[in-house]
Amino acid sequence: MIEVSDVTRIYQMGLVEVRALQGVNCRIESGEFVGIMGPSGSGKSTLLHILGLLDEPTAGTVTIDGIPVGTLSEEEKSDFRLNRLGYVFQDYALVPELSVQENVVLPAMARGISPNEYLRESEKILHEVGLGHRIHHRQYELSGGEQQRVAIARALINRPSILFADEPCANLDSNTSRTILNLFRDLNEKFGQTIIMVTHEDWHEEYMCRVLYMKDGLIEDEKACKMRRRDGV
Ligand code: ADP
Ligand code: ADP
Repeated sequence: MIEVSDVTRIYQMGLVEVRALQGVNCRIESGEFVGIMGPSGSGKSTLLHILGLLDEPTAGTVTIDGIPVGTLSEEEKSDFRLNRLGYVFQDYALVPELSVQENVVLPAMARGISPNEYLRESEKILHEVGLGHRIHHRQYELSGGEQQRVAIARALINRPSILFADEPCANLDSNTSRTILNLFRDLNEKFGQTIIMVTHEDWHEEYMCRVLYMKDGLIEDEKACKMRRRDGV
């Protein structure tokens, strides 16, 4: 579970202060698939980065699974990120010189998992994301949707308690976006994977449990998505 209490984030741009977050409060339960929506500049990415320990609040506290993460040292924070958090970005951020499988195992190698184990685990996850036939390919041989699924497999290899996704479908057409969103929904429904995703596409709501709407650095509204649809039902 994540608890966010009075979080502000001020960027100091010379003499100008940009108040990206102005006292955000929220709570995200384990096993939720939550969307963060709102206009450009409303603070969505800033909030996601703070929840993912990629940025720090100017004031306020974030507690993840009972741990007040602001009290962790830099080293403890990197361990926390590696062991408990997974990230997916809009530009995939794959290493082009490496094969699909080599990309996916990187976070497991960083954790010191044995090659036997990470090779087995990466094959299992690549099958789960529908890329069992692409294990030895390289990035340039893959479509955008496949590249994003590699990035998702890499984010999942350490079985993170929370998966963060920042506009993961921004560079994908709507059919490919649906493949990614279906994958997220399956991970959420089958394995109880907690997912927090920033998006500006309203139609993505149908895949989520709940949406937080941001405006001017605050969560101004939220909605439970009861219309969550199962294909063919
Ligand atoms: P969103 O993701 O909703 O588009 P952001 O969180 O990226 O919003 O940005 C919120 C506000 O903070 C915007 O006014 C943006 O210009 C500003 N901002 C974001 N990152 C920085 C930065 N690194 N330096 C200065 N201002 C920033
Ligand atoms: P096991 O300990 O046998 O892997 P789990 O309950 O952890 O049992 O997982 C059952 C299946 O679900 C396995 O195939 C596992 O790889 C998969 N799985 C578990 N958690 C996740 C997750 N967060 N994302 C994707 N697949 C997962």
